[in-house]
Amino acid sequence: MVKLAQIQVDARSPERLDKVVGPDRAARFAAVAHDTRELLAGRAVINVSSTARGGGVAELLQTLLAYARGVGVDTRWFVIEGTPEFFDITKRIHNNLYGTGGDGGPLGAAEHRIYDEVLHANAVELGAFVRPGDVVLLHDPQTAGLVAPAQQAGGIVVWRCHVGVDTPDDHVRRAWAWLRPYVEAADAFVFSRRAFAPEWVDGDALSVIAPSIDPFSAKNYDMSPDEALRVLRHVGLLAGADHPPPAPFVRRDGSLGRVDRHADILQTGPPPPSDVPLVVQASRWDRLKDMRGVMLGFAEHVDAGTDAHLVLAGPAVTGVADDPESGEVLAECALAWRDLPHAQRSRVHLACTPMRDPDEAAAIVNALQRHASVVVQKSLAEGFGLTVAEAMWKSRPIVASALGGIADQIVDGVHGLLVKDPTDLAAFGEATCRLLGDADLAQRLGAQARDRAGEEFLPDRHLEQWASLIARAVTG
Ligand code: UDP
Repeated sequence: MVKLAQIQVDARSPERLDKVVGPDRAARFAAVAHDTRELLAGRAVINVSSTARGGGVAELLQTLLAYARGVGVDTRWFVIEGTPEFFDITKRIHNNLYGTGGDGGPLGAAEHRIYDEVLHANAVELGAFVRPGDVVLLHDPQTAGLVAPAQQAGGIVVWRCHVGVDTPDDHVRRAWAWLRPYVEAADAFVFSRRAFAPEWVDGDALSVIAPSIDPFSAKNYDMSPDEALRVLRHVGLLAGADHPPPAPFVRRDGSLGRVDRHADILQTGPPPPSDVPLVVQASRWDRLKDMRGVMLGFAEHVDAGTDAHLVLAGPAVTGVADDPESGEVLAECALAWRDLPHAQRSRVHLACTPMRDPDEAAAIVNALQRHASVVVQKSLAEGFGLTVAEAMWKSRPIVASALGGIADQIVDGVHGLLVKDPTDLAAFGEATCRLLGDADLAQRLGAQARDRAGEEFLPDRHLEQWASLIARAVTG
């Protein structure tokens, strides 16, 4: 029995953004919000995605819906339900769209049948909410099969694809050939980069919109170094007293919360003391994030020259419903970790963050990113690195792969250091050591990254782009 879940997001007034965006941007945003509210009067903006927690899309929707509701737009969020076979197929498509084979399984008629059956059941439920003239925003391949039913219900349908590569290969072409019949008729398409769109997406229907972060969420608010220490001690990622107490943090709605769960940590011996430099990658357990490669690069090319420790943090593997490979990827990392010589192993910590309370989970990532001496994102493919934007906003020095959306986010040597070939572990190690060893450089790149994040990756810019796309779609 399919149960399309409606996710509750509380309204947030965008006025709290005023102090980070300044009066001119705030005034422009207020004007756009006013026009959008007038234009949409009586229409809902309905988002559909495949998970409410873990990963970039869930993170984004929390932010966008909260501020959209805050300016009086009736916007809602539904999460589809699927079977394990369905999510195996959609993960295969996701991996293919990133130019990799994934599990190597087929994409043919049998997969269409499984996919159609799940989405048909979800479409029936969605149909009860969509009214003629509503705007329906469908996110990623998991929801592509809802384009036609949402249009039949009278919706104006925008399909937003968050993944892609600059240069398509056979995997990419295969996935697009399979997806095309579902999405081709969408009223509009949104990609994070123009190069990600297949050639058959009509130029007029295509918008390029990069994601953004919420500077006031539990993930990004200005957590003090002391608060971060308390959080990391409590969850078990930094050495502290025997039983460090629960740590306070500020929730997305401004109320006080406390981190009282622990992280699940694989480590040899005690956690690192608070004064050793931490290199951190916080990502889903997805092969394309290359957590294992980060570990080997650190062990072989960073460990010996510094006293740094590495923390690889990802969501608890049961916490992300639409990601069937996460358990496997974590297990591969654990295996590689066990193979490291003892001295290296004791400087590498694999952590699963508790996901039950999204704000608590976010506060742990906030603390880790803020405490990090270097944040890394050594992805093998990336649509847009939210983790990169999060670290930029926190003025962290970053080492990241020069590909996909990251290449738009960071100018090498200005907002961080980019590694041209992410499989080049020596180059990754060298860049990381450079930042660990040169405090002035690290400080300068971090400050420039913060400025860039403030200019480009905040929700006002993002929502204005959506407003302009919705206005075009609604007025035909
Ligand atoms: N993240 C998290 N908990 C973790 C590790 C990562 O909440 O233990 C978050 C991270 O902070 C970011 C999101 O997951 O907000 C990942 O988004 P990104 O765009 O980097 O990658 P995606 O998951 O979309 O591929």
